[in-house]
Amino acid sequence: SYFSELGLAEPLLRALEAKGYNDPTPIQRQSIPALIEGRDLLGLAQTGTGKTAAFALPSLHRLINDPKPRKPASCRMLVLSPTRELAAQIADNMRGYAKYVSLNIQCIFGGIPAGKQARALVPGCDVLVATPGRLLDLIDQRALTLRDVEIFVLDEADQMMDLGFIVPLKRVARLLPPQRQSLFFSATMPQAIEQLGKQFIQNPVKVEV
Ligand code: AMP
Repeated sequence: SYFSELGLAEPLLRALEAKGYNDPTPIQRQSIPALIEGRDLLGLAQTGTGKTAAFALPSLHRLINDPKPRKPASCRMLVLSPTRELAAQIADNMRGYAKYVSLNIQCIFGGIPAGKQARALVPGCDVLVATPGRLLDLIDQRALTLRDVEIFVLDEADQMMDLGFIVPLKRVARLLPPQRQSLFFSATMPQAIEQLGKQFIQNPVKVEV
């Protein structure tokens, strides 16, 4: 099976070709068609399986196919990651897949001053990749609102829990608009993670790789 058979927009296929990716990985084959349709997703998957492209490509496809003007201090897609390294890597990957479309992709994380990140959010962006602590700091500073989020991705949920991000995540859950698409990924699915997932996703497609 090829990427072109999954229904992805042409500029995304071109970006994949430029990267030399011909065949979708199993998680990509299982996820992309359902995500293009707008379904929620519960993914049991490790890093290295092609998970990032599995959520990035259909999400970018939906943003491209339904263009909207940017709104100040807002984003249309929010990806939460437990660590700054992973957040930066996801943003980097997404910029690569989006290189033939004009989407604004921002990345925010702690450990560096928030001022520059807050200024980058002023005009609004299409995709925001963030760690939970800095995300909530910027929301508290009124530098960001989650009211326009259409697609929400929670990556590495088990690591989020290990790092003590449960309370911040529950706050994020309350700030997200109910009408949205949600994707929830974890490398393991103990009961506590499944419970957390239920706060974010509805009637999900389940994928395990
Ligand atoms: P991930 O699991 O998202 O961290 O991806 C693992 C690695 O595989 C990354 O370096 C990706 O760029 C690469 N990758 C993702 N999808 C494909 C694909 N369909 N074909 C070849 N490489 C891929």
